[in-house]
Amino acid sequence: MQVNIPLKKVVDNSYNITIDSLTKTHFDTKVAIVTNPKVAGLHLAYLLSKISAKELYIITVSDGEEYKNQESIDTILESLFNHRFNRKSMLIAFGGGVIGDMTGYAASIYQRGIDFIQIPTTLLSQVDASVGGKTGMNNSYGKNLIGAFHQPKAVYIDPHFLTTLPSREFGAGVAEIVKMAVTFNRGFFEFLESADLKNPDVLQEAIKQAVQTKADVVAKDEKEHGLRAALNYGHTFGHVIENETKYKKYLHGEAVAIGMVMANETAISMGLMSVEEASRVKALLEKYDLPTTYNVKNSDNFYETFFLDKKSSDSNITFIIPVGIGDVSITDSVKMEVVISVLNKFGE
Ligand code: NAD
Ligand code: MG
Repeated sequence: MQVNIPLKKVVDNSYNITIDSLTKTHFDTKVAIVTNPKVAGLHLAYLLSKISAKELYIITVSDGEEYKNQESIDTILESLFNHRFNRKSMLIAFGGGVIGDMTGYAASIYQRGIDFIQIPTTLLSQVDASVGGKTGMNNSYGKNLIGAFHQPKAVYIDPHFLTTLPSREFGAGVAEIVKMAVTFNRGFFEFLESADLKNPDVLQEAIKQAVQTKADVVAKDEKEHGLRAALNYGHTFGHVIENETKYKKYLHGEAVAIGMVMANETAISMGLMSVEEASRVKALLEKYDLPTTYNVKNSDNFYETFFLDKKSSDSNITFIIPVGIGDVSITDSVKMEVVISVLNKFGE
């Protein structure tokens, strides 16, 4: 199954996203696989049975969002200098979104930019992070505040890797799949309602549809001047939840699931979504054990925290509000009173 990302229309770098078992591939150049100990332990032997290169190196960085930082980037860059990588050399990101974002960022700055390939191993990175060319790292000011747009040369999505994924990590990926369906594709949403993602064929089809949706959006708006922001559905609320719970209680996708429920409540208040449609979205999230409730202790404080989001300008908060199921509105004119009264419903 191949999905071609039609980026040529906006930039001269379209690339293929292959959703299938990896096939044997040889690269006639220097290649470094960037990964972490967990992914390497589980899947590196399999990858090395498929990938070969003129010279092949493995670079490992520590596992975890807290290591998505300058130190890990330096580890990657130093290794490239030590092995005398040049402009024709290439990186392979082998892991979840943390590895993908950092590998892409290192590739974007090493000697002003070298090629890289994504081989994502979590559901979230297969359906979201590996596609679209956003790369970067965190610093003490926040998440993903340093980075570059640098598109991969190819993305290889092999669902086989997902068999070892813990169930909460699987759910976090499902949340991002639901996000794509609610914002852009009603037919896809109905497919998800009727099917079970634990079934490998269903999962492969869902990955394909999610990737196709994201690819179409990125092709229209690569650098997020407009439409691409719709992919932040659930994220404006979700980021506040992650912030309030110090990034400990919820995985990102779990916070986004609650955030989508909050955005839906806002849509109901604005007359943009029916109660019935909102409960269908909630039911779909709950089918995969995603959280859909949250105790907002103080709605004013919650509201203030929106302003920490880098996607908000100083005075306005941009909300992504669904319009029914399958369409979306990007708006900075949602009244504060409307949001506060939605948040009050999430109090005890
Ligand atoms: P992650 O990369 O931290 O992976 C989650 C955990 O699963 C890690 O411990 C990882 O080692 C482990 N893991 C990876 N593959 C596994 C496998 N096959 N089996 C068992 N365990 C495995 O987290 P994630 O959810 O993949 O990605 C989140 C990151 O992605 C965040 O940093 C976020 O900012 C970024 N992101 C980027 C974009 C983008 O457009 N660039 C989009 C969404 C998210
Ligand atoms: Mg996300």
